[in-house]
Amino acid sequence: MVYQDFKPCPLCGASGQIFYASCTDYMVSKESFYLLRCPDCGVVYTLDPPEEGEMKRYDKLNLKLKLGDSPNGITSRLYYHVRNFMLKRKVRIVEMQAYRTSGSLLNYGAKTGFFSHRMEKHGWKVTSVEKYHEERQFSMEMFRHRMIDVPEIEALHPGTFDVITMWHVFEHSYHPHELLDKFYELLRPGGVLIMACPNIYSTDAIHYGSYWAAYDVPRHRWHFYPGSLTMLAQKHGFTLMHHERMPFDSFYISVLSERNMRHKMAFLRGMLMGLYSWIVSLWNRGKSSSIVYVFRKR
Ligand SMILES: [Zn+2]
Repeated sequence: MVYQDFKPCPLCGASGQIFYASCTDYMVSKESFYLLRCPDCGVVYTLDPPEEGEMKRYDKLNLKLKLGDSPNGITSRLYYHVRNFMLKRKVRIVEMQAYRTSGSLLNYGAKTGFFSHRMEKHGWKVTSVEKYHEERQFSMEMFRHRMIDVPEIEALHPGTFDVITMWHVFEHSYHPHELLDKFYELLRPGGVLIMACPNIYSTDAIHYGSYWAAYDVPRHRWHFYPGSLTMLAQKHGFTLMHHERMPFDSFYISVLSERNMRHKMAFLRGMLMGLYSWIVSLWNRGKSSSIVYVFRKR
């Protein structure tokens, strides 16, 4: 189905958008949204998402799991342990890909500050950006870590960062072109931009179709696969150096997807599907539920 009447692709301006899926916001609003695919740049995007100022109504702030708390419920417990494992993994990715064990890092979309805090403990000078006051406040109280609001990045000095990270943030962006240009300006020559995004061509995405939890409409505006994200980054002066799997996302996303489908034994079924998706991704990183991309500033 080609939607000639729809507006051009919001990312590249091409026309002739193709219907991709109809997804429901199972987590918050229960509203439905269409996803369209651009025939030119390949990006899939959420049609008519809420205005930027309206998004807070749809966002779910994750302020419950504090350091040292004992989380309740099997999914929360799993999330808690996986997060600790992933923090170590993220530190390793940054230090390996930046070829250094200290330096200046901009963590964009820092949420409650766990990753920023971990990098500081490893000797990095971290600047954290978070749009929500509640999460900035949480980080301040929890880690005594100062975070800046999004507009404040305009005051940062160009060419001063060794690394910029965005962990599951770029797919939410309302201004992707402006953001990539800003990152290009802020990175020093040869600096790296590391971002993790869900992958719409993953095994679990194909299996669950419109129930796939990582479509996460309308919070996710953009739905990438390696080709579409790489092409976009190239247009802004970045070269893809490396990409790798996010190992646990397939399990977490599959369990949530099973719940979206209201299946009985959703946890067990999701874990099995997550395991299958994870095994496939061992041979083919392009099939991973989420992918970490490492781009270098040209
Ligand atoms: Zn496009």
